[in-house]
Amino acid sequence: MKKKILITPKSFFRARDKADEIFSQFDLDIVENNTGKTLTKQQMIELCSDVDGVIVGLDPMDEEVLRNAKNLKAISKYGVGLDNINLKVAEELGIKVRKAEGTNTRSVAELTIGLFFALSRSIPKTVADVKDGRWDRTIGTEVGAKIVGIIGFGAIGREVARMASGLDMEIMAYDPYFSDAELTKAMNVKMTNIDEILEKADFITLHLPLNEETNKIINSKTLSKMKQTAYLVNTARGELVDEDALYNALKNGIIAGAAQDVFSQEPPDKQNKLVALDNFILTPHIGAYTKEATERMVITSAKNLIEMLF
Ligand code: NAD
Repeated sequence: MKKKILITPKSFFRARDKADEIFSQFDLDIVENNTGKTLTKQQMIELCSDVDGVIVGLDPMDEEVLRNAKNLKAISKYGVGLDNINLKVAEELGIKVRKAEGTNTRSVAELTIGLFFALSRSIPKTVADVKDGRWDRTIGTEVGAKIVGIIGFGAIGREVARMASGLDMEIMAYDPYFSDAELTKAMNVKMTNIDEILEKADFITLHLPLNEETNKIINSKTLSKMKQTAYLVNTARGELVDEDALYNALKNGIIAGAAQDVFSQEPPDKQNKLVALDNFILTPHIGAYTKEATERMVITSAKNLIEMLF
């Protein structure tokens, strides 16, 4: 029987041919997001109203969207962060949800390490200075022999650990749901509590999901425990960080710098005072946006949707 599906992620269409190979064997009526933007809640309510399945990016799938989607049986996440989907309501309605596990791990980890260097060597600022006709040198710090504190030791956190150990960094991690002592021993990672990470790490990097428990896990209290020379890197979700508190910490020298690939509002307002700070770097949610990860996410999310629907 024919199934109607909606595909929302903008970058899905970069590797669309890979999905077509999978879809061609099934009877599908495909609706695409051709707005070039993440869909709004209203657009999602309308487009999801009669579909059987969705391949979704960052577009909202909250309670109202789900309850209005009368035929919806499966949501295939194009990526791994499920925070835009109301999982409780999906479960109640019997809608299956699956993420494209492991597809973008390496890409996000590589960006994270890139942001360590961007911060420690002031790369964005010094490049902008030269282009503006200034030859001012900003003294940097090496990452070698520094302590990296990883909050959230899942797929991406562990990949960052593997890469950071290749840079001779000392690694600490906090993850209350991770307990493979053999693996952490083999990786030379010290599992500890969040306070030790805040107090000792030179680079703190976030790789945990956004949920009620983790919302604003980085706030004025946690920032005040960090070293004045420390850097914060967030390639997970904007809401993990209280952005007003981060602004105060960066402005008042409580920490040295921060880099985010994600923001509570994407894109942020042009007037946003945090974005204007020299010791704050922001990239436009490019963690998973590589040719390789895009291709893997297209294939896995297409396969996942087909498996859930047929
Ligand atoms: P994962 O599920 O493999 O790992 C998440 C880890 O966080 C798990 O080990 C879990 O136990 C841990 N965790 C949960 N609650 C915690 C808490 N309160 N404190 C500490 N640790 C906690 O997921 P992943 O593939 O490593 O991805 C991590 C996050 O990165 C995703 O949830 C997503 O939001 C984000 N992400 C961002 C991009 C991007 O484009 N910037 C791309 C992919 C993923």
